[in-house]
Amino acid sequence: MKIFIANWKMQLSPEESVRTARRFARVFRDYKGRALLCPDFLSLAAVSKILAKSNLSLGSQDLSAFDRGAYTGEISPLDLRSLGVEYSLIGHSERRSYLQESDKLLAAKIKMALSHKIIPVLCVGENALERKQGRAMTVIKNQLKGALQSFSIADLRSLIIAYEPVWSIGTGLSCDRDKALRVKATINEWCQRGGFKKVPVLYGGSVKPDNALSFLGSDGFDGLLVGGAGLDPESFRKIADLN
Ligand code: PEP
Repeated sequence: MKIFIANWKMQLSPEESVRTARRFARVFRDYKGRALLCPDFLSLAAVSKILAKSNLSLGSQDLSAFDRGAYTGEISPLDLRSLGVEYSLIGHSERRSYLQESDKLLAAKIKMALSHKIIPVLCVGENALERKQGRAMTVIKNQLKGALQSFSIADLRSLIIAYEPVWSIGTGLSCDRDKALRVKATINEWCQRGGFKKVPVLYGGSVKPDNALSFLGSDGFDGLLVGGAGLDPESFRKIADLN
């Protein structure tokens, strides 16, 4: 079954998130697939209550690399789990670039997610310059190695990887299907070589209802990570129905 993730980023106020989550719950009333919403931290508790009886799961956009203690401003994975968070994005390109999140930090966040039974969704992808210089595959392999090399095969049983070319996020420029699938093959190969079999690989980057299908199919990605179109329940439902 394909996996569909809506990342709401910091686009909505808590009141707007509640209203939007109610609309999502209605639109997904009869949904049978695997889809989740990632609201901002302030909205998680309220959205969690709305989604509790829905067919949608809850994800967070990030989590702390610590679970309890003197870590000012951090959000504990323990508390996320108790709010019903089942998945967490880790290393979204906006956090890597605006907040300088390092591979070492991402590895610590993955460890924390796993130890609290939260499914980590590790985001990787090259920026425009790296692509232009022909370094996309090297960059992605380095990101995988940096975040995952310290884990055992058993540790990473629940891992999901999202390939998100940075130049495509929020720009309306989606990646060419064949080029995206070449990256997916590289990620699959890297995982297999490390003994991590069957890691689902999602695509993200300007996915809309009219281009989503091109990334899916039996030989395509295992799901989609959606930003802009994931704010609108009807658009996200059209995408999530391409199961
Ligand atoms: C994202 O937020 O990860 C994303 C892919 O955004 P968009 O779909 O708007 O490009």
